[in-house]
Amino acid sequence: MSEMTHDVIVVGARCAGAATARLLARKGYRTVMVDRASFPSDMPMSSHLLWQSGAAHLKRWGLLERLQASGCPPMFEGSLNLGAFTLVGCAPSPDRVAAYAPRRLVLDSILREAALEAGAELRQHFLMDDVVWENGRVVGLRGGPHGGAQETLRAPLVIGADGRTSKVAKAVGAKAYNEIPAATGIRFSYFSGVPAQMEFIPGLRRMLLAVPTNDALTLVGVTMPVEDFLAGRDNVEQHFFSELEQWAPSLAARVRAGKREDAWLGGAVESFFRTAAGPGWALVGDAGLTVDPISAAGMTNAFRDAELLANAVDDGLSGRRPLDEALRDYGVQRDAGTMPIYQFTAEMAQLLPPTPEIGQFFGGLKNNQADVDKYFGVFAQTVPVAEFFSPDNMARIMAAA
Ligand SMILES: Cc1cc2nc3c(=O)[nH]c(=O)nc-3n(C[C@H](O)[C@H](O)[C@H](O)COP(=O)(O)OP(=O)(O)OC[C@H]3O[C@@H](n4cnc5c(N)ncnc54)[C@H](O)[C@@H]3O)c2cc1C
Repeated sequence: MSEMTHDVIVVGARCAGAATARLLARKGYRTVMVDRASFPSDMPMSSHLLWQSGAAHLKRWGLLERLQASGCPPMFEGSLNLGAFTLVGCAPSPDRVAAYAPRRLVLDSILREAALEAGAELRQHFLMDDVVWENGRVVGLRGGPHGGAQETLRAPLVIGADGRTSKVAKAVGAKAYNEIPAATGIRFSYFSGVPAQMEFIPGLRRMLLAVPTNDALTLVGVTMPVEDFLAGRDNVEQHFFSELEQWAPSLAARVRAGKREDAWLGGAVESFFRTAAGPGWALVGDAGLTVDPISAAGMTNAFRDAELLANAVDDGLSGRRPLDEALRDYGVQRDAGTMPIYQFTAEMAQLLPPTPEIGQFFGGLKNNQADVDKYFGVFAQTVPVAEFFSPDNMARIMAAA
């Protein structure tokens, strides 16, 4: 058997991969990140609302100050404009953090630089081509620059943090489950001269969004059923503004008074879990778990799972527990931790027209600020879905309408 070049190889160096690599490097493991991209570079398809529980990870990792120093404004409150009235809420946050919407160029760079500072290596322009098997275990990977010389890196663990089309997942045969076809699409761009707090404005089978981000820009987006998203592809600008004017005329006027500073961006993706780990491999981030973007849970989930996975890997590689057993537990914890927000997101993603019960629910919320805050906390993943939507809690809220 050839010698191991590293303890862990992480494929993908963005929010899941760089976070995991940093945690492992800090624990003393020889960690290398490989990515086919060159950095710094953006992640243009994805909007980037990072809820309080995601920001709490950054705080715990000592990286929140770097995000704040980037000029990305904190969002302590969010508003949900229901036409007849607006709910303004502040998600409970035990860690006393706000939500943020950092450009991925900024956030991913902070995480990657922190991983490098912790001692991880980075190979850019490195396209992972296949994993290397030995005696039924993954023991490394092959890859290199696109069309260039291939090399083999060897390690007892290869982590796929290579996004939802993960080549690592394909190479190891990770099985998909709880699959849901793409239900929503979001179209967005960045505008100057459009001051905004975190604003949500529902339309009929729509959710419009404005959040401040880096460089004094505001991300303004429209989430809609995937068929409408695809129908608007041929005339994106006109489609975007007709949606905005129909459902959020006052936001439309603000956006018209500002200036678009970037391309039209966005996308629609299917939702799924994939088996989290197997002999010599594990998946983290979208590679193992992709959630419809409507609840903006992806990066928050990635941070939580980076921590779970790094702890499991440490248990295994330090010899405290068999590695395969620790990785199996990582998968169980990931699935249990995600399922409530996954199911809640799947319901939201249907973008069903409002019912009288929903009207009564919001009417009840209006009269109780603590409940409004907790409702925002469900999205921020600081209030458990099951607790907030328990029959008793729902009955209490609706009785107040
Ligand atoms: C339209 C849309 C909107 C979204 N909005 C939000 C939001 O508001 N908030 C939120 O939290 N989440 C959002 N998400 C989800 C979020 O983008 C993902 O959860 C997040 O990007 C996952 O990060 P990751 O590190 O797992 O993967 P990625 O960010 O996809 O990074 C994967 C990396 O792997 C590299 N890679 C891939 N294949 C290879 C290979 N073979 N060899 C080497 N490198 C490779 C890529 O170059 C890339 O750098 C949205 C997603 C979409 C599609």
